[in-house]
Amino acid sequence: MALERTFSIIKPDATKRNLTGKIIAKFEEAGLRVVASKRIHMTREQAEGFYAVHKERPFFGELVDFMISEPVVVQVLEGEDAIAKNREVMGATNPADAAEGTIRKEFALSIGENSVHGSDAPETAAEEIKYFFSDDEIVG
Ligand code: ADP
Ligand code: MG
Repeated sequence: MALERTFSIIKPDATKRNLTGKIIAKFEEAGLRVVASKRIHMTREQAEGFYAVHKERPFFGELVDFMISEPVVVQVLEGEDAIAKNREVMGATNPADAAEGTIRKEFALSIGENSVHGSDAPETAAEEIKYFFSDDEIVG
């Protein structure tokens, strides 16, 4: 299988609790390589645009407020089967359903404050990477 890239966010609940390094260690242990990374404080417009697919969901306002409540770390992760591998190491959206050893099982606070975002398919990975990074910021 060829190398693949996916997009990740270390969310406000995790940056606030100083868990950035522990979460990156989980990615690296799973064979994912950080090929781009920056710490940003998202604007409301950025967060609304990023999560536009969820804008009709009842939790949209809460999600946007949460995502702009503290800085986040946006990253590009590279590896074999990176999109699926990242979803596996993240664990289920609701930490109550997440498998042992996953990031969300170990660190997430709730279904909303669940420590990480990861792209769910090749098309969304490409779009999400472009939303936050220019080509020259990604060093593979
Ligand atoms: P995932 O992040 O696992 O891909 P979704 O794409 O379904 O999950 O949802 C995006 C994000 O919206 C979740 O990670 C979580 O932060 C938030 N979210 C999802 N469902 C709920 C919910 N029922 N209540 C509050 N927040 C939610
Ligand atoms: Mg999703």
